[in-house]
Amino acid sequence: MNETELIRNLDQIKIELDGTGCKLIAVSKTKPVEILTAAYQAGIRIFGENKVQEMVQKHEVLPKDIEWHMIGHLQTNKVKLIAPFVSLIHSVDSIKLLKEINKRAAQNNRIIDCLFQIHIAEEETKFGLNEAELFELIESDEFNSMENIRMKGLMGMATNTTDYEQVRKEFTALKDLFNKTGSKYVADNLDFTELSMGMSNDYRIALKEGSTMIRVGSLIFGERNYNN
Ligand SMILES: *Cc1c(COP(=O)(O)O)cnc(C)c1O
Repeated sequence: MNETELIRNLDQIKIELDGTGCKLIAVSKTKPVEILTAAYQAGIRIFGENKVQEMVQKHEVLPKDIEWHMIGHLQTNKVKLIAPFVSLIHSVDSIKLLKEINKRAAQNNRIIDCLFQIHIAEEETKFGLNEAELFELIESDEFNSMENIRMKGLMGMATNTTDYEQVRKEFTALKDLFNKTGSKYVADNLDFTELSMGMSNDYRIALKEGSTMIRVGSLIFGERNYNN
């Protein structure tokens, strides 16, 4: 992946997003700082990472007007490391995690924006809440007493399959749950505007289904090599 290719990839996606109101989260996990710098120079201001340590290191050296989005599974004992600067946590899937985010946000005098991660795929391995768990969490007294978090919407990952009808159905289901939740609950810390769905292989379907944030990695930066 050279810089010319990177810029070409970004331009292509930007054209597709033009006029949709959908934001691009450039998923830069495993990629070195030089590559992120090239993307930054090409106009990217939102980066998605899935490892706390990696995000912290990149945040330290890169320009401060970058929004850092945590898109991967987040362990409670690591929340404190990103609480001072993280812009959006896409992967909230338990009250325990939310409690910790709320606590660390308060210590930093911040309100941290979050999304609930919803399980929409067929795979067992993917994290996330189902509808009943989501509603139970939102209705809990504990949730309603948290003052330093703001829930902005939902995130989901579709099944990794070439059966695009299946993927479309999963995104539609997520969109329906997003609408249902946003209208069912009106609370101070629930401000539903964001629907994070769509990755390199399925973002076009996600866009058609109403995504407001696509999380695209390999299509911008090339395949990831997990060995280095
Ligand atoms: C890695 C990752 C992405 C991006 O995946 P690509 O297929 O490379 O676009 C999006 N969302 C999450 C949660 C990820 O972990």
